[in-house]
Amino acid sequence: MYQALYRKWRPKTFDEVVGQEHITEILKKQVLTDRPSHAYLFTGTRGTGKTTCAKLLAKAVNCLNPVGGNPCNRCEICRGIDSGAILDVTEMDAASNNGVDDVRAIRDEAVYAPVAARRRVYIIDEVHMLSKPAFNALLKTIEEPPEHLIFILATTELYKVPATILSRCQRYSFHRVPPDLIRSRLMQVAEAEGLELDGEAAGLLSRLADGALRDALSLLDQCSGAKIDRERVLSAIGLAENEEICRLLESLQRGDSDTALDILDRLYQSGKDVASVLEQLAALHRDLLLRFVAPGSGGALMSGGYSEGVLERLARNTDTGSLLAALDVLEEADAALDRSSDRRLCAELCLVRLCGLKPAAFVPAPQIPAQTRSAEEPPAPETAAAPAESAPEPVPEEPQEVRENPAPPALDWQTLLEKLGESLFIGDHMMLSDPSNVTAAQMGDVFVLTARNDAALQMVERNLDRIRTEAEKLAGHPVPVKAAGADGVGGDRFADMSNLFTQFGFKEEE
Ligand SMILES: [Zn+2]
Repeated sequence: MYQALYRKWRPKTFDEVVGQEHITEILKKQVLTDRPSHAYLFTGTRGTGKTTCAKLLAKAVNCLNPVGGNPCNRCEICRGIDSGAILDVTEMDAASNNGVDDVRAIRDEAVYAPVAARRRVYIIDEVHMLSKPAFNALLKTIEEPPEHLIFILATTELYKVPATILSRCQRYSFHRVPPDLIRSRLMQVAEAEGLELDGEAAGLLSRLADGALRDALSLLDQCSGAKIDRERVLSAIGLAENEEICRLLESLQRGDSDTALDILDRLYQSGKDVASVLEQLAALHRDLLLRFVAPGSGGALMSGGYSEGVLERLARNTDTGSLLAALDVLEEADAALDRSSDRRLCAELCLVRLCGLKPAAFVPAPQIPAQTRSAEEPPAPETAAAPAESAPEPVPEEPQEVRENPAPPALDWQTLLEKLGESLFIGDHMMLSDPSNVTAAQMGDVFVLTARNDAALQMVERNLDRIRTEAEKLAGHPVPVKAAGADGVGGDRFADMSNLFTQFGFKEEE
């Protein structure tokens, strides 16, 4: 049976893990001294080795003959864990088992001494997906763990893990693996597998993987079956999509929001996630920016898959100022996407904003050194930077048509508080300003004030109309402001709010 490359080449010891030495060295020491922690939290982007290291650690702390802190992979315990015959090591995916009962089952079992191994190890993947009651149940177990118990929690979204859990775990951040490390690993695997992989293709794959070694190996898998060169990679990963992203950028450069939204719609309909469209767009912007500010650093290009000619053409219609501004907009949108209840709308709004960033309408671009332009080219097109100094205030672009209501930007709570200081009773205002009484959060388009005690709840409800009025003045449009009770405050009235919390992955602060 064919085994996927990333499985086949999954590290069997800590020493084989690529690019995470800052973590594996510490874990090996803990195994050597036989002093592991009771709770670990592994964080970092996907494909960087969190689960791999969790499994290695589970084996190493139980291995009969660990070698320099690594599992031996030969003793009966190591082999039993690998084959799944030893049930003392359990892996759970919180994405599909996120309920309180799943965690209670672990809790009930965890008190018993392990059967075959020395320690019970629970690996919980995607731990941020646990429901709030499940987190609470987990917390009780982590607080006073029996001697034989180890939890290894892994997450790509640290901010969704409650602070109460964080404070009880040893935390390790897995880094994106640098492209050159991925590249050499790919060459090594290709050679061992008898794949013909040339250096340029390996470089391209390593950039496309964006720091995830697992993705790089999967991409290599996709390309195998023939000699792997640049063309092979491009056709295997779908060059067509790159062309769409190029056309998208060109329409943005023209300020043509209709076409831009059409392209987004097409990509969306074809099953592409809007976040990844914006990500690719951002990568293309960074590539173009690098052409201006660091010509000759071709090896560091991130988006990959674009021909020199295409980049040259796109670069002609922009400048560093516009690129930087566009990257700001893209970054903001990326952050907003996570919290938005309508991701597509959020992405559309971002494109509309980008359409407004035509070079001439923007701040003076830094002088671009002449040599950054190709020698054969006519002098840099002056339309971009030249008018900036002499021109009067740039004429605002025609207001862009937004097809649906744009998602409102988040309200700034501190500013709103200041404004409220003028109209609220002073005692109420003091209470409202104190985060131990009230916390504020934007969830989708609703602005939620969470009261931490009954007095605070009464105060918020008493002043809700005033708060709404000030919020509307500040935002320039009506803002739905809601009062909510924290756990145990306000009783069942807020059952619907806790659904909202879950839906938006809202993290309660301590
Ligand atoms: Zn062993």
